[in-house]
Amino acid sequence: MPDIGFLNGQFLPLAETKVSVEDRGFQFGDGIYEVVRTYGGRPFRLHAHLDRLDRSAQALGITLPYGRREWTAWIEEGVRQAGHAETKVYIQITRGAAPRDHVIPPGLQPTVVMTFRELRPLDRAVQRDGIAAITVPDLRWGRCDIKSVNLLANVLARQRASEAGVFEAIFLRNGEMTEGAVSNVLVVRRGVVATPPEGERILSGVTRAVVLELARKDGVPVEERPVSETELRSADEVLLTGTTVEVLAVVRLDDRPVGQGRPGEVGRRLHARFQASVG
Ligand code: PLP
Repeated sequence: MPDIGFLNGQFLPLAETKVSVEDRGFQFGDGIYEVVRTYGGRPFRLHAHLDRLDRSAQALGITLPYGRREWTAWIEEGVRQAGHAETKVYIQITRGAAPRDHVIPPGLQPTVVMTFRELRPLDRAVQRDGIAAITVPDLRWGRCDIKSVNLLANVLARQRASEAGVFEAIFLRNGEMTEGAVSNVLVVRRGVVATPPEGERILSGVTRAVVLELARKDGVPVEERPVSETELRSADEVLLTGTTVEVLAVVRLDDRPVGQGRPGEVGRRLHARFQASVG
């Protein structure tokens, strides 16, 4: 089954889904996005993703061309047409196409692009054994809560991780950890989960919210507060959360073992709870 695309109300083969070179997403990174995955063929937490899309759009003054019901219908239709076992839906809305000018011309029509690709789950061995990460300076702008397509700092961070032969890069800013290049980060110390609070320094992850709720239900104390670099480096466990990583243990950080150097008890339990909740 070929991957399919969606452009401004039309489904097309992905290879034929093309936008103007004058699109402001292309020229300025002037756009927002979401990544939604399916479990059992159903988009997971779609409303939470659409809520965040609304918040991103509002923050940038982009008017979304579809309401909640239309988004849901388009996305479900794309998943159906793609026919994959599980689908990764990429949704991008840019401010639209116009002759290049930093000043935003009035009356632009946003460009809506979606892709519906087969979701390949993480290797079971990776989930079981955990991953390695490096730390990098957080060079991003001051509104990391907006899911903007301006991902250059994230791209360079993940590239550094890739060149170092590890899975993720964890951002540090002013002696505190913020999040990963493609994930939120939780630390576990003496059975307590701590993670930076929602705000302009991190993306408010849909998976983060689900996992924190599962932890609380499970009686695990959760603290949403600044987490220092020292706490990160001396954690018993470090966990990543995200749509594609789900709940993933970091077992090496900057070439040193995290805790015992293998996935810990809290992470294992949260991973199991998460899998049970989506299954
Ligand atoms: N933080 C960043 C920078 C991300 O790019 C992502 C996901 O892509 C996340 C956190 C996790 O968010 P979610 O759980 O909504 O996928």
